Amino acid sequence: MAKTFKRKKLTIAIDGPSGAGKSTVARSLAKRLGYVYIDTGAMYRSVALRVKEKGISPEDEVALNPLAASLHFSFITQGEQTHVLCDGKDVTEAIRIPEISRLASYISKQQRVREALVQMQREMGKEGGVILEGRDIGTVVFPDADVKFYLDAESDERVRRRYHEMVQKGVKVDFKETQEELVQRDH
Ligand code: C5P
Repeated sequence: MAKTFKRKKLTIAIDGPSGAGKSTVARSLAKRLGYVYIDTGAMYRSVALRVKEKGISPEDEVALNPLAASLHFSFITQGEQTHVLCDGKDVTEAIRIPEISRLASYISKQQRVREALVQMQREMGKEGGVILEGRDIGTVVFPDADVKFYLDAESDERVRRRYHEMVQKGVKVDFKETQEELVQRDH
């Protein structure tokens, strides 16, 4: 009788700065391979949204860690769009507004928020069959990922990409504001 070999499902890490094209590549690779695409930036953004909704101070690290650790995420990709569900609620649009981008940037610097989300991301990726995308995935979250990519582009090009992405999503943005946010996020 012929033996059948089941191919191991890989954990794939895609790193790089904002606007380099990570999500586009991650989504299209996930589609081809039938893997789940995990947008880790959306996780930081969702924590920021919750912080705002609950009126928690973004400086309150003691409150932020359990808040981040308590959230449940699912990612559902349909065509070119990935829906982010946080505790069952579709937050795809709400997490992209400039106010949440700024807050996400701020809270993502807090070590205890990172610890909570990094642990969750390791859990989500440990069985393979996932593509995790974010700026610390190949270095901190999955340094031993089966495959690692690092994507980069000139900063002007990254601003243009980010600006058009927001416009396409119907979010009101200013080019200069997008540029400033990108510099801040890179930092
Ligand atoms: O990539 P995106 O702009 O959606 O990320 C939202 C925020 O979360 C950014 O400030 C980014 O620096 C932060 N982030 C992070 N670590 C990740 C992914 C995103 O600190 N793995």
